Amino acid sequence: MADTSSVIIIGGGIHGSSLAFHLAEKGVQSIVLEKGVLAAGATGRSSGLVRMHYDLELESRLAWLSFQYFINWKERVGGECGFTRTGFLQFVPSEQIDQLKANVEMHQQIGVPSRLIDRQDVKRLAPYFFVDDIELAAFEPESGYADPYATTTAFMDAARRLGAKLVQDCTVTGIQISGDRVTGVSTSRGDFSAEVVVNCAGAWADKIGAMAGVQIPIKTWRHDTMFVRRPKEVGPSHPTVIDNVYKMYFRPETGGLTLVGLEDNNPLGEDPDTNTEYAKDGFTPRAIDRICQRVPIMEQGSLQGAHGGYDGLTPDQRAILGQAGPEGFYLQCGMSGTGFKIGPAVGACMAELIVDGEAQLLDISPFQLSRFEEGSLLIGDHNYGDFWH
Ligand SMILES: Cc1cc2nc3c(=O)[nH]c(=O)nc-3n(C[C@H](O)[C@H](O)[C@H](O)COP(=O)(O)OP(=O)(O)OC[C@H]3O[C@@H](n4cnc5c(N)ncnc54)[C@H](O)[C@@H]3O)c2cc1C
Repeated sequence: MADTSSVIIIGGGIHGSSLAFHLAEKGVQSIVLEKGVLAAGATGRSSGLVRMHYDLELESRLAWLSFQYFINWKERVGGECGFTRTGFLQFVPSEQIDQLKANVEMHQQIGVPSRLIDRQDVKRLAPYFFVDDIELAAFEPESGYADPYATTTAFMDAARRLGAKLVQDCTVTGIQISGDRVTGVSTSRGDFSAEVVVNCAGAWADKIGAMAGVQIPIKTWRHDTMFVRRPKEVGPSHPTVIDNVYKMYFRPETGGLTLVGLEDNNPLGEDPDTNTEYAKDGFTPRAIDRICQRVPIMEQGSLQGAHGGYDGLTPDQRAILGQAGPEGFYLQCGMSGTGFKIGPAVGACMAELIVDGEAQLLDISPFQLSRFEEGSLLIGDHNYGDFWH
């Protein structure tokens, strides 16, 4: 006999576990089916940046709502999320200064602590940064990074305390449909039945969509990151930075390390089950070159390691959220390389949508799958263009 729950969640990343937690808070039992282990996908490799600086107001709002979780984690969820406040700097090329100003204004209107600072201010915050090419930067003093593995585990632990279940080493192989609605899934561990099935399968989400006859326009996106040991002159920490001038981001990591990721040359369309233990050939020399341009003293640092991960990238590089295809089938996927920090609020909104028929916390209807067919792509009012190139 099939194991029965109210909601089946496919994928045990930040999104599956956040949804399980928020459903459980509403008294709805779910079962999370994960083909590997918790946080085995993009989440376990995420750089964990927590900032509100987006050029799309909806994403800034999701990040800001989520931020309230990160800073009140123990009280709100329980356990640890590893949030570390470092301050966050956004650098843009000189031709995007107008967008930067407009976006900071938008963030301030939402209530996000963010302001414009000049070159000297940046130098005061980070004396070892090269700043000659920075006219203005956006500064979020409260932002930083969190620990994606701890965050996901804490969500799942809290959900389980409220009755949710997690089945690991369980690969979903088919979606069961009767008439025009879902009734459950087939897996490597037998059948599970439920009236609602949610696709939180990250870079694998298009495969799950196909099982339900739903075409999801995502490409897999490979992203490598590198860890370098900072020379001691840089000090015990430094701000978290997205540097659109050098097309990279970096943040401090515990143990005197700095994590670096690049915005360009992230391969698209690869098999997401490709090995991610090691970075791709050529990544570390490029990443070292970039970080040494922005922080020249890093030339005295040393390489500690590099690895990769896969996420699902949509045509407008924004998430896909909402119902699609057979009744009871929902999408919470296509996180496009920036989905960790919005995980808490997205899970809350999706739980409201599934249980109450509408998301109250924030209207997430613009994120529906149908936007791609309708040509209603999500583009910021003062957009920086594609983040990933
Ligand atoms: C290297 C890297 C760095 C990043 N840095 C940041 C950052 O700094 N800040 C930020 O906000 N975002 C960042 N992101 C993006 C963010 O990590 C992802 O958007 C987010 O983790 C996606 O979470 P998810 O739950 O949707 O997917 P995932 O974490 O990928 O989870 C999907 C899960 O589904 C499982 N699954 C797949 N198919 C099946 C199946 N058939 N049956 C059962 N289970 C299945 C997978 O095993 C996987 O565990 C980064 C991503 C990468 C790769």
